[in-house]
Amino acid sequence: MDDSQIGTRNARGEWAPNANLKIAPFYRLPPDWKEVVAWVPHYFLPWNIPIALSAVAYWAFALPPVETMATLSVGWVLKLLVVNVVAVALFYGFFEWRLYVRRAQENRFKYNPTFPADRTSKVFWFGHQNLENILRTFLFGVTVWTAIEVLVLWQFAQTGLWQTNPWIIGVIALFVPVIHQAHFYCIHRLIHTPFLYKWVHSIHHRSVNPSPWSSLAMHPLEHALYFASMLWHLVLPSSPVLALYQLHYAGFGAIPGHMGFDRIEVGEETAFDPHAYGHYLHHKYFEVNYGDGLVPFDKLFGTYHDGSEEAAQKMRARLKARAAKRATA
Ligand SMILES: [Zn+2]
Ligand SMILES: [Zn+2]
Repeated sequence: MDDSQIGTRNARGEWAPNANLKIAPFYRLPPDWKEVVAWVPHYFLPWNIPIALSAVAYWAFALPPVETMATLSVGWVLKLLVVNVVAVALFYGFFEWRLYVRRAQENRFKYNPTFPADRTSKVFWFGHQNLENILRTFLFGVTVWTAIEVLVLWQFAQTGLWQTNPWIIGVIALFVPVIHQAHFYCIHRLIHTPFLYKWVHSIHHRSVNPSPWSSLAMHPLEHALYFASMLWHLVLPSSPVLALYQLHYAGFGAIPGHMGFDRIEVGEETAFDPHAYGHYLHHKYFEVNYGDGLVPFDKLFGTYHDGSEEAAQKMRARLKARAAKRATA
């Protein structure tokens, strides 16, 4: 496909879409209903419905009976860890293999022209971004993910009580992405405070040019804060499947912002939008887009970068003012 139809590549070879990012349309008053209707499919696809289905599949096929989960035991916990390892390896591995190993669409729609594997850098373990990212994903990411999962499922199984009203389940399911974004924004601002940034979050930001394996490459404390979004379901009128959906939204849903490509080609003439640009700009510029446009906290607090020159200028002015303040302090 021809990426110059919807974007431009600058002299450094960096590609950017021509259209600017937008916050979810219902925050603009009065809402433009045509825009709202056009936005709805993007809410459900390409990620939300498949991730919700993955939670149902886990409940149906991967988890033991509720009575088994009511007692903590090595057997089912270990099995769940293995299932998670395999699922993460297949899901992240597929996109990494197709886009970064096979390079099926070369660098069409790729924001940064460089492929991380083509460069070594001393900031990464053994000098390789992919190697460190893969090790962090499996050593810490999937283990913390599984630990929180076990804790929540065990809690549900012990009481045996959860929401069964389909209307309430439907409403909570609809809000799972909103809960995720609000939770992520708050913990993300927290780990951008100087001390936590230096010791915790800077590890995730080593991948200035992210690839799918960067998604869960974090310090274990960040993993704990990140996957803690599942804990909200212990206080909400929720169910184990909804809690799993929340967890999978964090676990599998971390990939969009780290895809590195604005469109994923499917065949010769079709491509889908993985919603990668907002978080890509966060990796590029650090102090913008702590969340995404679904929960418009960035817009509210002045850190929203929609990709425009105007937003870039605002960001530069903000950073300059901050540096000046620091110099006089
Ligand atoms: Zn990231
Ligand atoms: Zn960050």
